[in-house]
Amino acid sequence: SIMTFDELQLAPAILKAVREHGYETPTPIQAQAIPMVLEGRDVLGGAQTGTGKTAAFTLPILHKLSMSRSATNTSGGLGIRALVLTPTRELAAQIQESARNYGKYLQLSSAVVFGGVGIHPQMKLLKSGVDILVATPGRLLDLHQQGGVDLSQVQILVLDEADRMLDMGFIYDVKKILALLPSAKQSLLFSATFSDEIRELANSLLKDPLHIQVTPRNTTVERISQVVIPVGRAKKKLLLAHLIQTNNWSQVLVFTRTKFGANHVAESLEKAGISAMALHGNKSQSARTLALEGFKKGEVKVLVATDIAARGIDIDELPHVVNYEIPNVVEDYVHRIGRTGRAGANGQAINLMCLDEEGFMAEIELFTKQSLVRQPVEGFGADEGERAEPIAMGRQTLWGGLGRPPGRDVMAAAARAARTEMLQRVRERKGGASGQDQRDVRGQRGSAPPPRDDRNASAPLRGPRANGPRNNYPGNPNPNRQDRGYSPNGQGLNGQNRFDRPRRPPMDNAAPRALDNDFPDDDFQPRHITHNPGLGVGLDRRARQVPAKKEIDGQPNPLRTSVDSYADRNARGGAPKGASGFPSGPRRSGGGNRPRGPGGPGRPFSR
Ligand code: AMP
Repeated sequence: SIMTFDELQLAPAILKAVREHGYETPTPIQAQAIPMVLEGRDVLGGAQTGTGKTAAFTLPILHKLSMSRSATNTSGGLGIRALVLTPTRELAAQIQESARNYGKYLQLSSAVVFGGVGIHPQMKLLKSGVDILVATPGRLLDLHQQGGVDLSQVQILVLDEADRMLDMGFIYDVKKILALLPSAKQSLLFSATFSDEIRELANSLLKDPLHIQVTPRNTTVERISQVVIPVGRAKKKLLLAHLIQTNNWSQVLVFTRTKFGANHVAESLEKAGISAMALHGNKSQSARTLALEGFKKGEVKVLVATDIAARGIDIDELPHVVNYEIPNVVEDYVHRIGRTGRAGANGQAINLMCLDEEGFMAEIELFTKQSLVRQPVEGFGADEGERAEPIAMGRQTLWGGLGRPPGRDVMAAAARAARTEMLQRVRERKGGASGQDQRDVRGQRGSAPPPRDDRNASAPLRGPRANGPRNNYPGNPNPNRQDRGYSPNGQGLNGQNRFDRPRRPPMDNAAPRALDNDFPDDDFQPRHITHNPGLGVGLDRRARQVPAKKEIDGQPNPLRTSVDSYADRNARGGAPKGASGFPSGPRRSGGGNRPRGPGGPGRPFSR
């Protein structure tokens, strides 16, 4: 087997840059892929972030392009010879950075385009052209539709994180882009998982591909210690702050399921005197870059992120990862804990598990073939009499607790209540332009952004919150509960609507679509979660109990979930005193069914 980079047949200028980067030994995927890509083979790579896959395709692409003539585009500029499609802005930016770093001694140019920022500078850039373009699918398509990109010269195509692109609803965009490319080209497809849809895509795209399967270096159990802390539903925030403070953690990545959750947790930590920032798709690019930089530098102790936002973030030796909520998608668990213990360092993954999530945890343990230590923390356990409850968000309701779920009718009723609530929100959002859409348009026009980075996070809360009769559906196991059956952030809409709504015509609203597609929705959960049929048994069971077939038809993600374990939890009757969040937090104490929030209807969480 190959021991050093020097043994790979790469140009000296590339090897020099690689060496300067501190890499000596190729990772397994690099050792396998690089020679084959150099030979011109198509590649089907089973690999996720953390395996070194970026360099595995970037290095040979740089080599090949440097060895051949540049191309000319229709505007007389440089023709794009290598195109990399990737699902998120962060990944796109990182890939281009790699291309720049490894190609620093070459005469090649590269660019990155993604949504959420002005399109015109990108149009201009692409006119003069680049050799390598890294793009998210939605924005690339918009650029094409506006005549801003010529893809006729592409010789090498990379589909990076193909599973995520599909899960995020990019399949149509990806297929449209494929149709714009020359058929004679070399194609590389990387995916962590292989659903039927991915295989189909791979079959239609790849010619006699070389199959490479690697596992990340960083998910070995020995390197990462994982513990489960059983916690009362309403005590998670307090426990998190307690853990950070008593253990004196300096750099913690916290995962939530939703953007709303990320904001909320970050806020409560700040109030407890712990520097924290939320990272998710509703933040402007500059805010996200800032958050990440602050975190890397150690100025921000805690980064609270959703799965999608955190994917691809490259932070070496992250000591602590906290699952504030247990993911219902096993694969997300693996990705999350893969954020710690990188580069051989030791890491710790802490799972805050409430009763609603015991079933999820059990499935994760089954799936990853390990059983994790339960490590209760005195004073933070579940309350006496606390029982598992179904988890609802948007239109979805599911059961993540242990044992048998409540009856079908209860789940179905909860789902219906959730749906009503969501539709209501959609109507309200249509009334006044929502923060999301406004921001898109503003961004597109290149005018000044609104002053606050988190402006969108609270916008959808306008209106509907106080008036839903959501807890009154028949058979609600706990009618005192107010927080069932809706998503307090209302931000699952983009992702959900992706499959319901007709595809919009290209031109009339190309601008809002860009961001919509390029960073669809952190809260969006994948459809294919049973990638491995042998291990998907438990998940199938759960899928079956999602209400009636009719209920889920046409819905993108019957297994999406959120434990809305934030402010609402504490507004419930019966929440214990003192368990309701931090003292100075926005109204979270008290109980009963009164309308929440001091700011009048709909602004309960505004700062
Ligand atoms: P990736 O899977 O491409 O996101 O890369 C994961 C991490 O591994 C990044 O921090 C890379 O900089 C790092 N990396 C990639 N290749 C190597 C290598 N051959 N040796 C050491 N680190 C590497």
